[in-house]
Amino acid sequence: MSNHPIPAQPAAAGTKLSELWGILPEESSRVEGATGGELAIGGVAVSDLVERFGTPLHVMDEVGLRRQIRRFIDGLAERWPNSEVLYASKSLPAVGMYRVAQEEGLSVDVAGGGEIRLALAAGVDPKKLHFHGNAKTDAELQLALDAGVGTIIVDNDDEIDRLERLLTSPQKVLLRVIPGVEAETHASQATGGAKSKFGLPMDQAKRAIERMRAMPLIDFEGVHIHIGSQILNTAQFAQSVENISSTGTFATYDVGGGLGVKYTYGEEAPSVESYLDAVVAAAKAHLPAEAKIMIEPGRSVVARAGVTIYRVVSVKRTGEVFVAVDGGLADQMDIALTQQRYEAVLANRLDEPWTDSAQVVGRQCESGDLLVDGAPMPAPRVGDLIVMPVTGAYAYTMSNNYNGALKPAIVFARDGEARLVARRETYDDLLATHAPALGA
Ligand SMILES: *Cc1c(COP(=O)(O)O)cnc(C)c1O
Repeated sequence: MSNHPIPAQPAAAGTKLSELWGILPEESSRVEGATGGELAIGGVAVSDLVERFGTPLHVMDEVGLRRQIRRFIDGLAERWPNSEVLYASKSLPAVGMYRVAQEEGLSVDVAGGGEIRLALAAGVDPKKLHFHGNAKTDAELQLALDAGVGTIIVDNDDEIDRLERLLTSPQKVLLRVIPGVEAETHASQATGGAKSKFGLPMDQAKRAIERMRAMPLIDFEGVHIHIGSQILNTAQFAQSVENISSTGTFATYDVGGGLGVKYTYGEEAPSVESYLDAVVAAAKAHLPAEAKIMIEPGRSVVARAGVTIYRVVSVKRTGEVFVAVDGGLADQMDIALTQQRYEAVLANRLDEPWTDSAQVVGRQCESGDLLVDGAPMPAPRVGDLIVMPVTGAYAYTMSNNYNGALKPAIVFARDGEARLVARRETYDDLLATHAPALGA
């Protein structure tokens, strides 16, 4: 499935090297000749990345990322030719990422004017944009219409009123419906249950569809569902496809995203193939054979391709081994929001015995700023480089300025070359929005 380099020598006792290769980006390797064992991502040594771009740093393995995109596109097309894969861009809303999505043939799911602007700046064909959101404003809808956004996913009756007022030419529309599936995931990531704020329940959906079908400028194409994120049980996707079939017969069914990924050594996650098997088997059983099927993966496209690199700032042995790094919660919000668990490794000393169990903590003023609870590693030292695998999704997205933190840079690494796709924020960026108070 991928070409994880086999460690050059047997893993030292007490390391977790073999498990580590299963959560690092596909194009990860050991730097040749480096003593102690240094990690490279996309063929670029972690120390080189840090020297050029600083820390904290988000690094994406571009080759593995593109391969994963093709697994979704080709895998769905093989099983259901009349299909389309959308990249749920909130998982990594970087112009460089939108460009990769466009180059690989993905359509793009955007939620809000900001994501529309980022996608357009990347050169994404507006026809391939699908505009989501439960609270789109008049201004955002106008921005979307002016840009020629291909499809609008309508959430509610007020939005239908708005569109009726604003439309001056025909517009493709899907309706978000609540499929009544309580996803087995963190409550904040479940979006398809009966009490969801997203979409309309079946009975109201049917009335909204009748209304839209009577509107000359609304080109009603079908229905959309999205049951949540980090879902590891593929039967739930199948159930949601079955449930949505009762809304009616349409040209298009967008069955959403949400496939979960493996974050930690002990965890298992479904493959793209088994996810597609489950979705398409349900579609064959319950949806019209001539319908178009869309899926919208986000996390499962970008998560594993990305790592975050930190530098160790201090090591404190208080009974616990606290390894404090030069970033934290401000760039890994999922830790606080969904209690997502991660792993962390000493990327410059892979081959030494992993004798310690470290509390990898950040610099934000919260005890919840615990990046990893018990990371096995060699005795950590100030200056060591820590890599947190599986941070390609929702980390950059939710990074913020807590304690004056600066949003990290993003680098894409490929075949030994690294290119900057988003620069690190500066203190000037931080001050810029306060110009009025500064009298500037
Ligand atoms: C967030 C979201 C997705 C993507 O979810 P992932 O868990 O990242 O795959 C897809 N569709 C909609 C409407 C979303 O809100």
